[in-house]
Amino acid sequence: MNYSGFDVYERSIHKAQIEEAEAEVFMAKDDASGGGDFLVVSGKNHGFKGEPAGGKIRAPLNHENADALRKLFPFTAPSRVLREERSFGLGDRLGIATPGHIKLFERYDVYPVFAQQSIRELNLTNRTYEDVLDAASFAVFREDFQKGWGADGDHLKTVKDVEYALSLGFTMITLDCSDHIKTGVSEANAPPPPEKYTAKYLGKQFDIGEGIVLSFTGTELGAIAAIYGEAIGFAADMYGRFLKDGKYGADFEISIDETASPTTPLQHYFVARELIDAGVSFATMAPRFCGEFQKGIDYIGDLARFEKEIKVHAAIARHFKYKLSIHSGSDKFSVFPAIGRESRGIFHIKTAGTNWLEAVRVIAQVDPALYREVHQYALSAFDEARKYYHVTTDPGKIPGLASLSNAELPGLFENNNCRQLIHITYGLILNKKNGDGSFAFRDRLYQIWRRQEDAYARALERHIGKHLDLLIHSI
Ligand code: ZN
Repeated sequence: MNYSGFDVYERSIHKAQIEEAEAEVFMAKDDASGGGDFLVVSGKNHGFKGEPAGGKIRAPLNHENADALRKLFPFTAPSRVLREERSFGLGDRLGIATPGHIKLFERYDVYPVFAQQSIRELNLTNRTYEDVLDAASFAVFREDFQKGWGADGDHLKTVKDVEYALSLGFTMITLDCSDHIKTGVSEANAPPPPEKYTAKYLGKQFDIGEGIVLSFTGTELGAIAAIYGEAIGFAADMYGRFLKDGKYGADFEISIDETASPTTPLQHYFVARELIDAGVSFATMAPRFCGEFQKGIDYIGDLARFEKEIKVHAAIARHFKYKLSIHSGSDKFSVFPAIGRESRGIFHIKTAGTNWLEAVRVIAQVDPALYREVHQYALSAFDEARKYYHVTTDPGKIPGLASLSNAELPGLFENNNCRQLIHITYGLILNKKNGDGSFAFRDRLYQIWRRQEDAYARALERHIGKHLDLLIHSI
């Protein structure tokens, strides 16, 4: 739409009152010079920096202007959506998925966490938390999404990283306790439980409602205390340092999912109870569930056992009044109905990789030649990438590219081995350089994604929509 001489995003036209003066801000496209989108500010300027353009100010989409936007239009800043009944993390590693996600979350009674990245993901994509937050804010502004959205400093482990995310206004901290969870401890080799726990737990029945009663034997308690004691102390310390006084306005998620073995219901109960008794207030906890939640593919494991265990995990969360958080939620279609049902529709789910896979599927659809290059490179980088992931990918089970017509390439995204191949190599693909130092794929990929924005939005609507449908229709 042409507006004030600019090619404008229609939904981005916003007005605000500043000290009795009116300001108008909108976002426009710059297809001619290829310089990308920008903001146009007229009337009273409240902190935007840019160049004069036709009596207005043309302001680039940088961090300074994103900060100005968040101040002027609070809906473009993240809020504490983890406190809502249903929330969903979208780990948009490329910074381009939010417009598509918005179309979906406008329709569902679920609150999105558009900004969600771990430090590892930042490193692999050459991004900063500033970029991640700003990309979401600009998209929310452009599409006039006023419902509220969250920003998650995901899987943070250190004081420095938590401080980094909170200082930018992230509204959720996922504390990764895995480095403090002891491995190699079992009931056979654990020391006896410390005295402070024996009086509290032994010989007692813990009725968590719904006909579920938990009790600990001495050896069980000894092992659980040995495995989780230090992690509980770590979480309590981080809570006291950053979240207790509420000055950052952020919610706390306890993540104990990155462990070698599943979290048993007794372990879950113990960790929650000890944290709460230590005065730690948290919105969500992510246990590790039985079976395998591998990247970008459906659940692998015993469905009946999963259903039995999630019933107890969900009851524990209800008892202590927090939500279960399900990590690696991309494509876990066979367990979503049980998660929706047993949590009674109160959950947080995280996805990330599947949003990247949909972006690459678009490449396979519209630029088969580039897709073939990327795929070939991914195969050559597979051994390097697999060091960092637990996946059962067998590249030998992916059809050879030479045997496939261009029209058959998108179909590779129905093949779990191919999904995981492309999933775990994302950082290597994005960072691969040519001999002259230029990016081998990154710039070309982004160019296409920019041109194919509508196709990507439709793909996300369909694919993430399938996640939401299965979670919600079972409630
Ligand atoms: Zn996790």
